[in-house]
Amino acid sequence: MVRPLALILSKPTGDTVARAAARLKRGELVAFPTETVYGLGACVFNEDAVAQVFTLKGRPTLNPLIVHVASIQDAALVGAGWDDRCHRLADKFWPGPLTIVTKKHSKISSIVTGGRETVAVRAPSHQVAQSLLKAVGEPLVAPSANRSGHVSATTAQHVADDFPDGPLMVLDGGATDVGIESTVVDLSGPTGSPITILRQGAILASDIATVVGPVHVNQTIHQGASPGTNAQHYAPCVPLQVVSGDQLEKILRHSKGCMVVLVFEMGNVPDPHTAMVMPTTPDAYGQILYDQLRRGEAYDGIIVVEPPNNEQWGAIHDRLSRASVSVAH
Ligand code: AMP
Ligand code: MG
Repeated sequence: MVRPLALILSKPTGDTVARAAARLKRGELVAFPTETVYGLGACVFNEDAVAQVFTLKGRPTLNPLIVHVASIQDAALVGAGWDDRCHRLADKFWPGPLTIVTKKHSKISSIVTGGRETVAVRAPSHQVAQSLLKAVGEPLVAPSANRSGHVSATTAQHVADDFPDGPLMVLDGGATDVGIESTVVDLSGPTGSPITILRQGAILASDIATVVGPVHVNQTIHQGASPGTNAQHYAPCVPLQVVSGDQLEKILRHSKGCMVVLVFEMGNVPDPHTAMVMPTTPDAYGQILYDQLRRGEAYDGIIVVEPPNNEQWGAIHDRLSRASVSVAH
C-alpha cells in the first residue's frame, strides 16, 4: 500500500531507489541528486507528470526542461539530430555535466521543450541518478529542484526548504559535487554552423573546442537565446552585490544592516557583518556557492568579493551576475 505523498526524505538504498522508480512510473515526482544540482524528476513520456513539474516549481511553461538519460545510447530516444559532433562530445564528457541541445525526437512532447523543436539532453554521472534512471528504464526530465527563479538546490535540505509540503519524494544523496548547473551547448544547427555555449558550467568552452572546434560563448544574461540564460535566475531573496577587494571596506562602511560577505581571506570585515572565507579554486568555490547564498538569505544582503577574471571562473561569474539581479520572491 503506497501512502499519498507529502514530503518524504529517504537515503538512497536499493530499496528506496526502487520505490522512487515505482513512483516515477506512476507519474509522481522524485527529486534526486546529480553531480551538478538536485533534479526534480518526472518521466519524460508522461505529459501529466511533466506538467506537474512546471506547476510545483512555478516555472514558466516556455522554459524548457533538460532530459536526463542513463547513456549515450538512450540519447537517440530523445534527440533526432544526433550527429557526429554530438556523438564525439557525449563520448568525451558523458556521463558528466554537459547538456547538449539538438533537434527533438517526434516522441518528445512540446511541453518538455517549451514549444521548441529542439531538446536538451544529458547523462548525469552521479551514482544515484544513474541507478534511478536504470531502474525507471526511460529518460527523466529533471530541472533543478528549487522554486523557479530561486537559487538551485545542492542538498536535499534545500529541496525540502523550497517544497516543504511536497508532494515529493527526495533521495538524499548529500551535497552535490559540482554545485552549479551543467554547461549547455547548442548543436541544433547543421554540421558546420556555429556552436554556441548557452550556459557556462564546469565543462569549459575550451574543453568543448578541443572536440568540435571553435565555440561561441553567449554571455547575454538579460535576453539570452536560451530561457535559462535570462536574468532573474538563480537569485537569492536578498540583494547581492559583487565588489572588488579594493572597494570592500568602503562599501561595508556604508552598508545598512547586517551583511554576509563572501571573501577570499579573513580581515577587513568589521562587525556587525559576517565573513565567510571561500575556496580559491573555482571547483571548490562552485561546490559550496549556492549553500552560502541560501545561508545569506538570513541576512540583510550578500556581498561577494569578485573572483579572478579568467575562463576557469567564467561559470561562477555568470551565476554571480544573475544572482545580483534583484528579484521579488
Ligand atoms: P535547469 O533549470 O537547470 O534545468 O536548466 C534548464 C535550462 O536548459 C533552460 O533554462 C535552458 O537554458 C536550457 N535548455 C533546455 N532546453 C533547451 C532548448 N531546447 N534550447 C535551448 N536551451 C535549452
Ligand atoms: Mg533551474
